Amino acid sequence: VIRVDRARKDKNKTIQPDKAWLTKAQKQTKKAVSEGAAHQVSDLYRDVQVKMALEKLFYGKCAYCETRLGVAGDWDVEHYRPKGRVSENPAHPGYYWLAYTWENLLPSCTYCNQNRKDAPLYDEPEPGDAAGKLDQFPLVDENRRAMTPADDLRLEQPLLINPCDPADDPEQQLTYDIHGQIFALDEQNRRANETIRICHLKRRRLRDDRLQIIIQTSKTLKALSLAQSQHQAQIVALLTDTLNSLTAPGAEYAGAARAVVYDPDAFIACC
Ligand SMILES: [Zn+2]
Repeated sequence: VIRVDRARKDKNKTIQPDKAWLTKAQKQTKKAVSEGAAHQVSDLYRDVQVKMALEKLFYGKCAYCETRLGVAGDWDVEHYRPKGRVSENPAHPGYYWLAYTWENLLPSCTYCNQNRKDAPLYDEPEPGDAAGKLDQFPLVDENRRAMTPADDLRLEQPLLINPCDPADDPEQQLTYDIHGQIFALDEQNRRANETIRICHLKRRRLRDDRLQIIIQTSKTLKALSLAQSQHQAQIVALLTDTLNSLTAPGAEYAGAARAVVYDPDAFIACC
């Protein structure tokens, strides 16, 4: 998980669905508010305009696990605050009034967003855990949950990290180990632990894919340090470029690569 600036621009243009979509979304939101909990959420939230803008804004990666979208089939337009149901509160109708709110939409791979089981691996033939977000949206205090459009969302303290919230930097809360596994930097950090649990970020194939990036980054850092000590300017430049590519926001599992750069000593044993 890395932070993504929602206000990021592309060639001076804000990255969002086009005006026609935003107008339709405004209308649908009004309709939802007037109909209340009985509102039937339409497909507008997963319009091609939304998908195009989300892919661009998130560099073609899942907002939670950073896997490239579409590698393993289709991906979902995810509602950060669930639109039709809240697992933690059966009396909640879902945040139907945010179903068409651009800021509430994230791109998510089906492994993070749906409930899926780890498939057997050669080394670990037992099927792994099943997990995924679905309608989960736990809060620190359930009593503060917004139940209607009139309630103040700012009173909620969500336990799921929002990659677009400037006050919620995932890179300050999550780290990885030499096996590619993800952890809360501070083991008492409930938000980090809940985010890992909700999005099933410990799934085994994800762990193995992240490990490859961790190894590459660690090896590049070792080579860079050697080249620097030998004053090999051209090689230093090449390796610095490689390191920038591994940690760029558009790189798959950039969060894991960045964790290696923040604390190279912690990863020395990975390769
Ligand atoms: Zn994902």
